[in-house]
Amino acid sequence: MVVVTRNISERKAYEEQLKMFAYHDPLTELPNRRLFQSNLSDHLNEYQKSGKGFAVMMLDIDNFKTINDEHGHDIGDEVIKEFGKRIQSSLRESDFIARMGGDEFIALLTNITSKKDALEVVHRVRRVVEQEWDVSGEEFAVTTSIGVALPDSEQVTNDELIKFADSALYDAKSLGKDTYQLTTIV
Ligand code: GH3
Ligand code: MG
Repeated sequence: MVVVTRNISERKAYEEQLKMFAYHDPLTELPNRRLFQSNLSDHLNEYQKSGKGFAVMMLDIDNFKTINDEHGHDIGDEVIKEFGKRIQSSLRESDFIARMGGDEFIALLTNITSKKDALEVVHRVRRVVEQEWDVSGEEFAVTTSIGVALPDSEQVTNDELIKFADSALYDAKSLGKDTYQLTTIV
């Protein structure tokens, strides 16, 4: 009986570990793109039922390749980790952040009913990124470009939300980086 119990708990622990690897990014330990997609689907279903507003925010560190080149890959890794932490610290408990890959992050912002609500989050995020960066004794500045997509129709899909946030991010990069763009999907 004891052996069975132990085997079951070992198997459970193993399964938990597999889940952790499948749905999280090993560097930042944040959820990965797959877990974000599944969370977004759930949220979209909820939105279609309740009409409770939300937004998708995509962020990409500016000139990250230069940080890697000037300070080395290890410091680059630390910047990615710290960036994830700072963004998370500026969001609400109910929001959901994930690392999409490389220096790109995505967040589901809950309780967003207007562009003004979304802008408040954007400004909060920009403020935490602006704070000084001292990684392993090396000081430098980090900036980010941000794209936000707000749904204005219950017909919107997961893919559209991500595509529009991504294209708003692309527009922010094209405008010279260290800025943001908001787009409403009708
Ligand atoms: P942009 O301003 O247009 O965003 O350009 P960028 O230099 O930030 O480069 P981009 O976003 O196009 O690509 C991100 C780079 O980040 C590509 C790769 O060299 C580097 N990178 C991707 N993943 C990692 C990682 O896990 N650790 C480190 N140190 N670097 C990474
Ligand atoms: Mg970048």
